[in-house]
Amino acid sequence: MRRAVFPGSFDPITLGHVDIIERALPLFDEIILAIGVNSDKKYMFSLEERLRFLNETFKDEPKVKVDTYKGLTVDFCKRAEAKFILRGLRNTIDFEFERTIGQTNLKMADIETIFLISSSGKGHLSSTVVRDIKKNGGDISFLVPKAVVSKA
Ligand code: ADP
Repeated sequence: MRRAVFPGSFDPITLGHVDIIERALPLFDEIILAIGVNSDKKYMFSLEERLRFLNETFKDEPKVKVDTYKGLTVDFCKRAEAKFILRGLRNTIDFEFERTIGQTNLKMADIETIFLISSSGKGHLSSTVVRDIKKNGGDISFLVPKAVVSKA
């Protein structure tokens, strides 16, 4: 089974994440959306909310599973029997950040990271911008899937 883990905070999931996940579906038998839990980090949406957003958004997609993990992503991948990590690239800043992590994960655990470049028109989407707009009372509906809008 060709299984990939897509790790992230998903605080909240955006249409940018959805773009990457949908385009990766033909490449894998299963994609696990894995919310990394970091107790030092402050999130806008609770873990339960973020889980619900992911589950609701992909409820009709049997190849997508949702999970949470603590600790190293590669350790989660081993437990999940996933040989691949999926990540999205928006720009050179993402690339520089991801390159080091991808190289380390390959060396550490022999896990390949598969990168998809955001579709045109999707590269400006980020969870940070969504949180800023929401904090200031703006409309986020054009940036996130329906599951997030209905709660936000
Ligand atoms: P993290 O906390 O690891 O940064 P995020 O949830 O912010 O987690 O992002 C997870 C992954 O989704 C990263 O690989 C990021 O580059 C990618 N991503 C986020 N937004 C987009 C987008 N608009 N287009 C492509 N990839 C994206």
